[in-house]
Amino acid sequence: MTDELKPCPFCGGEAACIEETAWVIGCFNGQCAAAPSVWEPSKEMAIAAWNTRADLAATPLDDPRVFGLVKKARAVVDRWDSPLWKNLSHTGESIADLRAALSALEKNK
Ligand SMILES: [Zn+2]
Repeated sequence: MTDELKPCPFCGGEAACIEETAWVIGCFNGQCAAAPSVWEPSKEMAIAAWNTRADLAATPLDDPRVFGLVKKARAVVDRWDSPLWKNLSHTGESIADLRAALSALEKNK
């Protein structure tokens, strides 16, 4: 079993494991609004619980930035497949929207 911890499912922050009265894994990013944690009697159980939880929350389309990017990419692709692709002003607007969505994702990487 690997000791590798997946990032926080809420903020993407780095997770840490500490031993107190139980094994605790949590997000210790002070800016994380959710600050999730798991408490288990063994380190292995804590890692399994943390990583399972991160898997369940990892739905890219739940991220509004990813959703916006996919929506704009779909608009460009659909426009390309129709006679409307010749409407350069609408295509240009979609390209500008795609650029903005890509910048937002890259800025928060
Ligand atoms: Zn977090």
